[in-house]
Amino acid sequence: MNKSSEIGVLKGIGAKTEQLFHNLGVYTIGDILLHYPKDYDKLPPVTSLKELLSILETKTDGSLMSDQQGTNEKRMTVAITAAFATRIDKAPFVRAARNMQVTSLTLQEQGIKAELVWFRMPYLRSTLKVGQWFVFLGKVSLKGHILHMEQPQIFTPEKYQDMQNCLWPCYALTAGLGKNKLSQTVRQVLEELNLSIDYLPEEIRVRHGLAEYNYAIENIHFPENEAALEQARRRLIFDEFFQFILSAGMQKEQMEDITNDFIFPPLNSSQKQTELSAQQEEEGLWADRVMRNLPFELTGAQKHTLQEIRQDLRGRKVMQRLVQGDVGSGKTIIAFLSMLDAAQAGYQSALMAPTEVLALQHYQTFTELCELHQLHIPVILLTGALTAKEKRRAYERMQLYSNAIIVGTHALIQERAIYDNLALVITDEQHRFGVKQRESLFQKGMQPHVLVMSATPIPRTLAIILYGDLDISVIDEVPARRLPIKSCVVGKNARHTSYEFLKKEIAAGHQVYIVCPLVEESEGLEMENVTDYAEKLKLELSSGTVVESLHGKMKSGRKNLIMEQFARNEIQVLVSTTVIEVGVNVPNATVMMIEDAQRFGLAQLHQLRGRVGRGEAQSYCIMVNTTDSEKAKKRLEILNQSNDGFFIAGEDLKLRGPGDFFGVRQSGLLEFRLGDIYQNADLLKAASEEAGVLLREDRKLTAPEHEKIRIHMQSYLDSQAEIVNL
Ligand code: ADP
Ligand code: MG
Repeated sequence: MNKSSEIGVLKGIGAKTEQLFHNLGVYTIGDILLHYPKDYDKLPPVTSLKELLSILETKTDGSLMSDQQGTNEKRMTVAITAAFATRIDKAPFVRAARNMQVTSLTLQEQGIKAELVWFRMPYLRSTLKVGQWFVFLGKVSLKGHILHMEQPQIFTPEKYQDMQNCLWPCYALTAGLGKNKLSQTVRQVLEELNLSIDYLPEEIRVRHGLAEYNYAIENIHFPENEAALEQARRRLIFDEFFQFILSAGMQKEQMEDITNDFIFPPLNSSQKQTELSAQQEEEGLWADRVMRNLPFELTGAQKHTLQEIRQDLRGRKVMQRLVQGDVGSGKTIIAFLSMLDAAQAGYQSALMAPTEVLALQHYQTFTELCELHQLHIPVILLTGALTAKEKRRAYERMQLYSNAIIVGTHALIQERAIYDNLALVITDEQHRFGVKQRESLFQKGMQPHVLVMSATPIPRTLAIILYGDLDISVIDEVPARRLPIKSCVVGKNARHTSYEFLKKEIAAGHQVYIVCPLVEESEGLEMENVTDYAEKLKLELSSGTVVESLHGKMKSGRKNLIMEQFARNEIQVLVSTTVIEVGVNVPNATVMMIEDAQRFGLAQLHQLRGRVGRGEAQSYCIMVNTTDSEKAKKRLEILNQSNDGFFIAGEDLKLRGPGDFFGVRQSGLLEFRLGDIYQNADLLKAASEEAGVLLREDRKLTAPEHEKIRIHMQSYLDSQAEIVNL
């Protein structure tokens, strides 16, 4: 067994369980190790009966209040997981009930009564001796004024105290694959796999006080204590950054100094539109003509960026450029105009999007723009969702038209996609693509120009570290005509008011997005899920309103259909997971409502909010905070203060503070599994320096002492080639 073995090789994992692991994106042994816990549980601290009673009474009152506000559900039994220590002063009592033996223990402390029961465990009678102290752990609920606990776990106080330092992993789960099975599988792998020798040279580890890899991987899953977890995280985060930067550096080394052999028609001198005769207009550059006839004027930043790109296309070396622009800054049109330049020069260009939905949307936008401006350029869509026949046809057209504009997903870099004359490659929202994808695409063409577009709000200093191999343009301006989005943070009980608001917007002809964190109900997670939510909402809204759900687990065809229908306003309310986070553009949508908003990172919320406010009408973002936490509320309110991605990311960082890394997804866009480019800026800098030293010393890592790193980086790059399509 090694890291690339399929998980089916493990004992106890049959075909069915294997499939469940696939649902989690886990295919190989290596993937299991990378399936890091999302969070960790600690055993609850020991409390007294009195304290428990008062907590439960407050909670029960709370549940009663929300009842009176309209829901018809009956009063819920509130239960909390808790532990308490007590001395037994009355022996347990065993009785037979419905074919089983029930052991019950009655406790009394400061006048407060508790009733503990166990089923089919009569032998407990001899464990629970009068006069001894025990800790009981389990769900406690209130029946009348008596505390009630079923099947609590029993510990001696000493044992419980020892265990309190341990952290227990909480993994992302899927229906049918529970917490225990996952933990057990990870443990099995850690025990059976001969973990490799650390690839990282010892001197680097020592220099930055980093733990060994084997220690780190064990402790990220099963931390001995908090300090061990912190050590593990530091090491693994360093690795993430180091690998990323090193691979970019190696890439740069490969691509440096590629001369630009493409021939583009010269850029026009800055003639005014009014001075052009009809003939000049006809003969000029298509991109200029389209630009003049757009329904809006490009912002200064857009013009500037486009100018840089177009100069690169005509430069001495091939372009390697990153365009950074906040959501809604108008990157798509820049991509299109650049591709027009390529088409006019007789070359193919390709735009690669991270999701099917987005690829389709770009395809439609480009097709419409070509028609509108009477440009006879073949626009070709190539995604995994196409039928075999459609795909064949797309390939044929790619062969046929050497000036085509090709739009797609990672299907664009698959083997069978053969280009003819590829001069320009653009990746949209590039954070989802690794260096490797860029490289494969690069290899498909005749060393094309590369443009990378990203909405990740990172300061220039970080951008230079992370994208050291690219030139950078920044679109730091959003179109002025737009009304700023109005945002608000509300509690659960404002849902009714929110729905009334949605109804009004829908009645005015607008559309609504609702985002939930989960696809379907998940055991132990009290969060809204897309499937049930859509059903509930249908009952709330009038029958003329079409509500649909959208999530990543759907078949591509269905996903695309729903997105198309939403774009045509055949669907008014789209209940979705964050699949719509990236790039989707439906200007008629004016409301973004986010359930369990506190679960998301601020940068991610900012992206989600960026789905509205794209048209002329006033748009709104409603964030539902389903906790009582003041801190969560404060964090969410940062989004009220600003529409600026840079500002938001910075404030988020300030509020989170070190060590506060669970529960919410990190910076949203530039995603590492554990690392956060803001929060772990020190490690990012360290990794960047080390990678720099290494590459300066041995640019191809061919020296014998770098063999381990070289081999490791090769497998890193290979694993990057696998893209998870949302
Ligand atoms: P993003 O940068 O997030 O990818 P898009 O390219 O999707 O943004 O643009 C968002 C919307 O703004 C689109 O509907 C687009 O047509 C429009 N748009 C782009 N540039 C301008 C501009 N200069 N003025 C007005 N609207 C614009
Ligand atoms: Mg975009």
